Amino acid sequence: MSPIVVVGASLAGLSAVDAIRGSGHDGDVVVLDAAAELPSDRPPLSKQVLAGTMEPAAAHQPLANRLEELDVDLRLGCRVESLDATALRLDLRDGTSLNASGVVVATGATPRSLPGPSLQGVHVLRTLEDSLALRADLLSGPDRVAVIGAGFIGAEVAATCRELGLEVTLIEAASAPMVRVLPVAVGSFVADLHRDHGVDVRLGVGVEGLVADGERVRGVALADGTSVDATVVVVGIGVVPDVAWLDGSGVPVGNGVTCDETCLAAPGVVAAGDVAEWFNPHFGERMRVEQWEHAIEQGAAAGRRLLAADTDAVPFPSVPWFWSDQYDRKLQMAGRPAATDEAHVLEGSFEDQRFVVAFRRGDRCTGVLGVNRPRHVVQARMRLTESLDWAPIEELLA
Ligand SMILES: Cc1cc2nc3c(=O)[nH]c(=O)nc-3n(C[C@H](O)[C@H](O)[C@H](O)COP(=O)(O)OP(=O)(O)OC[C@H]3O[C@@H](n4cnc5c(N)ncnc54)[C@H](O)[C@@H]3O)c2cc1C
Repeated sequence: MSPIVVVGASLAGLSAVDAIRGSGHDGDVVVLDAAAELPSDRPPLSKQVLAGTMEPAAAHQPLANRLEELDVDLRLGCRVESLDATALRLDLRDGTSLNASGVVVATGATPRSLPGPSLQGVHVLRTLEDSLALRADLLSGPDRVAVIGAGFIGAEVAATCRELGLEVTLIEAASAPMVRVLPVAVGSFVADLHRDHGVDVRLGVGVEGLVADGERVRGVALADGTSVDATVVVVGIGVVPDVAWLDGSGVPVGNGVTCDETCLAAPGVVAAGDVAEWFNPHFGERMRVEQWEHAIEQGAAAGRRLLAADTDAVPFPSVPWFWSDQYDRKLQMAGRPAATDEAHVLEGSFEDQRFVVAFRRGDRCTGVLGVNRPRHVVQARMRLTESLDWAPIEELLA
């Protein structure tokens, strides 16, 4: 029998393998990854590894130590070029092909970069190599670091750079940081947190382009006619799901791989993690989630789905959860608010920089975010898992 083939040996892919073995499948499992080394765990890359407080080798994935036990045929440096979803055949860059009995798509995402030639001193952050290259540049003593994009990665990098004693300008085209996932009021809190730590925060201004001196970046030209002098620039403007290899495969692709509520994309093909957009029955909406714990949980759900008969397939309902460390503040959020949802502070205050804020849309609570309030967020997540009704959350937290 052909093996199950998992494309992507990172968090979602290995979690799928764990669930496949946990479900009793003892057939062959091949795991392919384009990277030459097993991908590292990503959260420390913008935090401890970048700061130099964690050895790079310690940033390994949770399942890295269990590969032997999971009995996988792991092939690194092995890029999949294309898939024929009807025949379940994969073509690899080395010119060989592989037949599969089932395929797990766990290819994650690639950071967006700015148009134009690549310049020394300009960085994106996804892999261990990215983190170490950025750290080396930070240690060279730049006069200033410009961070383009105040999403979670940009905000974390800005915080880490300040903690290394560097001057930082954080540039964001939107009116507040993180407005893609958080209402403006909370984004404004994040902007103030960075200002309090000495970051020059520029909001509501786009980037016109990079300023170069030969092959080295010298600054960032902004759309309002001003510029920021910086010899290190970090581009944190989001990611693109890695789906180009699925062109013509028969697997539906939109904002990532389009899956049903059970994580199935096509017969015999499931997807999970940053690359997968699925119908989340708990929220009644389609979503693609770029979060660590989600990659583990959806990877497991997708692995089980691959083994299940269609009649036994179960949906994957989820209340996503993530954390972000910035300075001495730990932000944790359960749920999936939209930027337009109402924000209600139910405990603490923005001034104290310790609070719990719940997001409301009609009679629903779409999420709960805590700053240095872990217990509240854990409890709220449990409540949200039962129901998204607003009243029980208000009762719990008020
Ligand atoms: C710097 C950083 C910090 C983060 N911090 C947090 C945090 O604090 N909290 C949080 O909740 N989340 C955080 N995240 C998000 C979290 O780490 C990701 O959501 C998670 O790693 C996604 O895992 P994945 O397995 O879906 O994708 P990935 O980790 O991207 O893995 C995809 C793998 O697929 C491989 N691949 C791609 N295309 C092919 C192909 N054609 N053939 C073969 N292999 C291929 C890639 O090489 C890669 O190894 C952070 C992410 C980053 C980058």
